Amino acid sequence: MNSQTDTIKPIILIVDDTPMNIQVLSKMLNSTYDVRIATRGDKALEIARSKKYKPDLILLDIMMPEMDGYEVCRQLKSNSDTAAIPVIFVTAKSEIEDETKGFSLGAVDYIIKPFHMPIVQARIQTHLRLSQQAKLLEEYAFLDPLTHLFNRRKFDMVFEEEWRRALRNHEPLSLCMIDIDFFKGYNDTLGHGEGDICLQQVASTISKSSSRGGELAVRYGGEEFIVLLPHCDEESAYSSGENIRESVEALRIGHPHSDISSVVTVSVGCATVYPTHKTIDMKNLVKLADDALYQAKQNGRNRVEKGIK
Ligand code: GH3
Ligand code: MG
Ligand code: MG
Repeated sequence: MNSQTDTIKPIILIVDDTPMNIQVLSKMLNSTYDVRIATRGDKALEIARSKKYKPDLILLDIMMPEMDGYEVCRQLKSNSDTAAIPVIFVTAKSEIEDETKGFSLGAVDYIIKPFHMPIVQARIQTHLRLSQQAKLLEEYAFLDPLTHLFNRRKFDMVFEEEWRRALRNHEPLSLCMIDIDFFKGYNDTLGHGEGDICLQQVASTISKSSSRGGELAVRYGGEEFIVLLPHCDEESAYSSGENIRESVEALRIGHPHSDISSVVTVSVGCATVYPTHKTIDMKNLVKLADDALYQAKQNGRNRVEKGIK
């Protein structure tokens, strides 16, 4: 099969213990979708959790031996990797004990056997479109429109995930907080439009300087950015900060109103902790980086300082 066509077609997973039902559905859907099949609940969960064949939609039989469709649905919805996949229950009317049960477990629809093909097609299309739109909305909700970096909301979410991961693995977690030096003067002299362009250039450089696995660069607000550095100790956090500082300076964006340089520069505050179970420690890590940033400003700007616990 042509692999390029494969990636373009949405993946639909059909889960049914009766091969005949799978045949009928897959014959109908094969030309439009990349159809995957599972005849058992545990296999279905395995496919749904796989990176390669993660389905865009699941057609799920209710009555199956061992793990039934309700249980498969419950497990899909309780895992954040699979919770967003739309699930449509496919079943004979007589098999549904309680129609509301599927919806309360998070299914989006029911398709009743025997199938009326155009209806099945239409429902699948509708739910694929809705889930695509939801994905797009979620992406936009986490993006800063000016710089196209992720925003503070994304940071809060990922910070919590990385905190828990570092806690589990007894690893350090670091932050760099970055702020453009004398940016008010830049805006006042060159205008807000030029200020926006400068922000975009600085943002893009910060993003490129922090693109190793797991690192996350966000626009935290105004002319302030945060880079989250998982598995990163104090020394590596400092060198990441220094790398960012140098890359921004190397852009050589003329700054007509800076007390310390002829070009745009940034100050950076770094902080590192070994996470604990206390939520207050998460806030403290941000505060530590913020205090270090304040020190960097105090000590002359265009420099990196480490937070002191
Ligand atoms: P410092 O070196 O102490 O950080 O001085 P500063 O002038 O950079 O700090 P201050 O907090 O006084 O000024 C920040 C400026 O950033 C003020 C504001 O106009 C500008 N700014 C914040 N967000 C935006 C934006 O989206 N676009 C533009 N053009 N400017 C922005
Ligand atoms: Mg500033
Ligand atoms: Mg500021």
